[in-house]
Amino acid sequence: MTKIIFRGTGDSMGVPRIYCKCKVCNEARTTGLNRRLRSSVQLKIADAGEVWIDCGPDFAKQLEAADLRAIDILLITHAHFDHIGGLVEWADACRWTQKKGIAYAPTEVIAEINDRFPWLKNQIHFHTFDQPITIGQWQVTSWRVNHGKNGYAYAFAFLNSETNYKWVYCSDSIGLTDEQQQPLVELDLLIIGTSFFKEPFAYETRSVYDVVEAMDLIAKWQPKQTLLTHMSHDIDLANDYMLPANIQFARTGLELNL
Ligand SMILES: [Zn+2]
Ligand SMILES: [Zn+2]
Repeated sequence: MTKIIFRGTGDSMGVPRIYCKCKVCNEARTTGLNRRLRSSVQLKIADAGEVWIDCGPDFAKQLEAADLRAIDILLITHAHFDHIGGLVEWADACRWTQKKGIAYAPTEVIAEINDRFPWLKNQIHFHTFDQPITIGQWQVTSWRVNHGKNGYAYAFAFLNSETNYKWVYCSDSIGLTDEQQQPLVELDLLIIGTSFFKEPFAYETRSVYDVVEAMDLIAKWQPKQTLLTHMSHDIDLANDYMLPANIQFARTGLELNL
């Protein structure tokens, strides 16, 4: 049994953005439908414990929301601040509790983290995640995806070898090559990042797909179910975007039982 719980569905700045007074940011400050912490999911996996994907600057708040004092395994998609900004705090918690953290990330991501935060490895065991790993009943594979002007990130595919259920977490990507798209075909569940509904900025300045582009890709890849995450203040959950029934915006606290 595995449960996925969305702990953050925001883009790199989250919602509200600190500088912004737009309608969505103001709503996020008051009623809070659009309040979005930086993107992260909690996975409760039988025989593996608490597995989280990414550890952004909202990690401490997200752990409190989950009523957890510790996690068992962290998977890291890439070394941008919105995905690793909480590592320093996590490492401190590991020091105070004298229990080393366990993190998996591709070799180049670990190297980047070590460059910037060389002391983290005293408290966190970083394991390379270039080859498939097994977590509970899941075989988990990482692969490099284009992240536009921001370089590269990684996506993770989870395959249950008994039931053949397959799902993917791909929060930060744009302009995927045919090869990078291969693991995204015919999934049971796709979780993909879409920062804007229709992003108005020049393509070469962008780093994440928008909803309109994702809809085209979903038509091609044919996942049974899709959840959109990594959303900026452009997306107002009070609007009806007329998405098909099998495509939804993720919300903080949304739970799925796989
Ligand atoms: Zn991001
Ligand atoms: Zn705003």
